[in-house]
Amino acid sequence: MNADLEKALQTHPCYNEEAHRKYARMHVPVAPKCNIQCNYCNRKFDCSNESRPGVTSEVLSPEQAVAKIGYVKEKVPNLKVLGIAGPGDPLANEETFETLALVKEKYPDLTLCVSTNGLALPENADRLYGLGVRFVTVTINAADAAIGAEIYGSVLWKGKRYTGEEGASILLENQLEGIRRCADLGMLVKANIVMVPDINADHIPDLVKKVRSLGAYIVNILPLIPVEGTRFQDMRGPTPEERKRLMDACSVDARMMRHCRQCRADAIGLLGEDRSGEFAGCGLGKGD
Ligand code: SF4
Ligand code: SF4
Repeated sequence: MNADLEKALQTHPCYNEEAHRKYARMHVPVAPKCNIQCNYCNRKFDCSNESRPGVTSEVLSPEQAVAKIGYVKEKVPNLKVLGIAGPGDPLANEETFETLALVKEKYPDLTLCVSTNGLALPENADRLYGLGVRFVTVTINAADAAIGAEIYGSVLWKGKRYTGEEGASILLENQLEGIRRCADLGMLVKANIVMVPDINADHIPDLVKKVRSLGAYIVNILPLIPVEGTRFQDMRGPTPEERKRLMDACSVDARMMRHCRQCRADAIGLLGEDRSGEFAGCGLGKGD
């Protein structure tokens, strides 16, 4: 790892447990569209790539996002990381790239972070790298298309909608290739895995081995949170004990993130602290 990346890692609250009590991150919700349908997602809510179900209060344009960052930076001096995590899939929205370019130019001291379902990652890995992104999270819930088919309702790929195993395998191929490319470029990849006890729990150890073999730096196993109005609304999430057991078992193969707070797509502050309400409307000319 080069010295600059090592330095950024020291102050990234999500990739480094030591940093999460000291340094803040901010998400800007500039990416409303999504290119897949996860069975646990109700589009009224934030993307589960990085966030628990909770309404994002606003979608910002790239310019509004940059204005808000300037405002927040003054009030939150320990802000180190700027993440784009939704509310849809960042890579399905050109606004993500516009925002990254603007932030890179205006606030080069911020560490850039993007979270995606991975479908469009192979074609965008170089572009993200060129924009200065060194931290990428890929949410990947299965390394087997038959299991993936139970988790993903549909995948929109090159203008056509695919379902079942066909859709899941297109997504899977891209996720794996995307992780490999980002790791090869020298980015630090976090794999987020949503644990759905009745579907993928037994398969997760194999999935962890797979992403690790492709170069993922850290793995974050998130609990399914059943949301009303989704196909998984009646499904149960794992108990904390079940999740801990699984993480303990997987920690033999990969570094585990254990301090995740499943923050919103417009989260601001330390992990575990949500100051998004305080800054609602900033950048929109409503509160700044
Ligand atoms: Fe929802 Fe995110 Fe899945 Fe898209 S990738 S369907 S926004 S959880
Ligand atoms: Fe990056 Fe995810 Fe942390 Fe946001 S929550 S800063 S997208 S790793």
